Amino acid sequence: MLLTTVPDYHMHTPRCNHAIGDVIEYAQVAVQLGIKEIGFSDHCPMPNGFDAQWRMSYEQLDAYLSEIEAARAHFAADLKIRVGLELDYVPHHEAWLQKLSDYYDWDYLIGSVHFIGDWAFDNEDHLDDWQHKNINEAYVSYYDVVAESAKSGFFDVIGHPDLIKKFGHRATANDPAVHAAEERMLQAVKQANIALEISSAGLRKPVAEVYPHARILARAAELGIPFCFGSDAHAPGEVGYAMQDCVQMLDACGVSAIHSFEKRQRCLLSLR
Ligand SMILES: [Zn+2]
Ligand SMILES: [Zn+2]
Repeated sequence: MLLTTVPDYHMHTPRCNHAIGDVIEYAQVAVQLGIKEIGFSDHCPMPNGFDAQWRMSYEQLDAYLSEIEAARAHFAADLKIRVGLELDYVPHHEAWLQKLSDYYDWDYLIGSVHFIGDWAFDNEDHLDDWQHKNINEAYVSYYDVVAESAKSGFFDVIGHPDLIKKFGHRATANDPAVHAAEERMLQAVKQANIALEISSAGLRKPVAEVYPHARILARAAELGIPFCFGSDAHAPGEVGYAMQDCVQMLDACGVSAIHSFEKRQRCLLSLR
């Protein structure tokens, strides 16, 4: 029988300015759903005011950590609470990523690509920018930045691996350049020996699809790439969102295990 719950490793806090609910409320929902393990991965601070309205400030990191540590002690009997961050991969910010990585004894770090150059492609305030873009080229550029992020060595997990589709912009089916970029991305993840996130967040977005697409999941499974699950909850009610659908998708792709992290060590959890 398939596992009914798996760890949910992607949730935010109001410090990122676009989420609601205290850490303790997210944890309560997890307990109610019978989830045994969750992890927080709020949007990381960035230097020099970069994208500041969508993330916590550097000064808020300590409060973020102490709120999670308090919840961890409070729920110790019922729920494992892991501590992570969702780090933005932006080329040439390696020193900053190193500084954040050294800041705390993280359980895991998610690497996410939300920018292609200075284009915030997944930001609805910049949705009009898509009108001037070649969609296939946007996909290729996106996958190439994700591949770079995997190679950077800073991350344990690649977040929402085909976020580029968020608003429903679709690359041409079987476009060889897009296909090759997708494969380069997966090979980089494989080579780096890090995990891919299966994220239910896409189901709540215009694309109405899990990240990544079933085709990418199947190819990643074939390559033996490890997976972990994330709801990308920005509200307590989104904790564990569509978890069962994601577990079934993984199973259908022949994936037999999902992964959790403790102090950046990956642990395997059999799906059956
Ligand atoms: Zn994200
Ligand atoms: Zn997120």
